Amino acid sequence: MTQWLFPPRPTPSLPITGSDLRFPVRRILCVGQNYAAHAREMGSDPDKQTPFFFSKPGDAIVSDGANPAYPSATANLHYEAELVAAIGEGGRIVGWAVGCDLTRRDLQAEAKKTGRPWDAAKGFDQSAPCGSVTLGDLPSPAGAIALTVNGETKQSGALDDMILNPDRIVEAAGKLWTLAPGDLIFTGTPSGVGPVVRGDAVVVTIDGLETLAFEVA
Ligand code: MN
Repeated sequence: MTQWLFPPRPTPSLPITGSDLRFPVRRILCVGQNYAAHAREMGSDPDKQTPFFFSKPGDAIVSDGANPAYPSATANLHYEAELVAAIGEGGRIVGWAVGCDLTRRDLQAEAKKTGRPWDAAKGFDQSAPCGSVTLGDLPSPAGAIALTVNGETKQSGALDDMILNPDRIVEAAGKLWTLAPGDLIFTGTPSGVGPVVRGDAVVVTIDGLETLAFEVA
């Protein structure tokens, strides 16, 4: 029997809609600039840039209605509303959730300027609030995706505005990694990203999926 130096951390997980089963999270891949209007607001030309990937650690997940802490070392924490694809056996999408790709925008801008990695901008502790996983086909492939802060609509888009749809994202990711059960893919955000501060109430909705709601703690 393995003798651990210290107890292994519990596996991060998400609830599954309408079930007592949990979805065990392995790793979080994220797609950058997958909506043309968002690529433009970030200063990129969506016609010239293929969407690309970055990642967050699996334990960046914030689930079950918990509130993410405002992170250290930033003065510009941004929300990004995202459809999340949940990967099961054979690297196939088995379910869907509503997520928020929290971003230290100031550190990301600095990383872009200096050509350095995005880890500190994207992969920090509690950077991936995520709602419950709804198993099966995406209920509304051309449905609305929206985000409000303190009741005011900040992002409002449609899932079929994605440059790479979820199937093409999985195909592209599969060329770079062996997707495995428990992987989550954040599929990018529509335009309208912006800052949140402590105490802000964020609500992210996608047609047909469980709403994600949290407060920045
Ligand atoms: Mn994002």
